[in-house]
Amino acid sequence: MADPLENVAVPELAAQLSKIRELFGQILPSEELQATIRGFQSQRGIYKPAGSNYALWIRQTLTSPYADKRIEWRPDGSWTYFYSPESRDGRADLSLPTNAGLLRCRDDRIPVGVFRQVGGPSGLSEYEVMGLAYVEAFDGDHFVIRGEAIDWTTSPVPENVEPVFHPFESSGPMQAQSLRTMRDHRFSEVVRRVYNERCALCNVGYRLRGRPIGVEAAHIIPVEANGVIGDVRNGLLLCRNHHALFDRNAWTVDEDLRVGLTADSEFRKSAAKNHVLSWEGKRLLNLPSRDEDRPAVEALRWRLDAFQKYWH
Ligand SMILES: [Zn+2]
Repeated sequence: MADPLENVAVPELAAQLSKIRELFGQILPSEELQATIRGFQSQRGIYKPAGSNYALWIRQTLTSPYADKRIEWRPDGSWTYFYSPESRDGRADLSLPTNAGLLRCRDDRIPVGVFRQVGGPSGLSEYEVMGLAYVEAFDGDHFVIRGEAIDWTTSPVPENVEPVFHPFESSGPMQAQSLRTMRDHRFSEVVRRVYNERCALCNVGYRLRGRPIGVEAAHIIPVEANGVIGDVRNGLLLCRNHHALFDRNAWTVDEDLRVGLTADSEFRKSAAKNHVLSWEGKRLLNLPSRDEDRPAVEALRWRLDAFQKYWH
């Protein structure tokens, strides 16, 4: 599948959608979004630009019916969301232009932007940019909205289907560096959420001014070895120290997610006063709450094999 934005015939709409995709994962003040996203200064929940057949974005405010519903991320980075249509006289009316715009998005598979208001640190109005999503259906009460996968050239896997794990990137044409960078960023954002912003090895995580600090998404099969970047099951969230040590093969994990350490005496001596030695043979402290988001066995096997070869 190509980039779905290639289906968008109106260049201005395509440019706005592309911008929303670029902002994926960021938490931004309302004023900043007003300056970049069309219609954001309006008070609307669904925005359809005048003259456009399609809705451009939807937003959920803290007072929306589903505002406190936790978003569940899937291994491919997609998510499902329910959105109430606009109503007239207290009743949902699908003939309203905004609702009709979302139905057109569904029919023509044109993505919409999704924004979610979050409680700012000082009462500021801030929004989490959920990125682009598809209007999958209208279930009689709500629009069923499905977030774009990390790799937006693949359709998000349906909610009730266990996605197949492909350990390696399919060898397509070389991607432009900017695309590669954006996909890496999206992978990091999703891995961070799935691991609740804490290091898988030491369970440490910090937040400051609304942002996590010092945690990074690591690839189990590295990007240089063509490891997949569109699937959180090739990922671990690690603090910076443990990421650096993981990359240099100071430690690894086996198929049961137990910690293995190098026998290198210099490393073990230097690490003696840290916790790492005491975790040897134990299971990772912090893992995604759902089994399906945890590291894939194929990726773990590859990593263990590479670790053993490295120290052979
Ligand atoms: Zn750590």
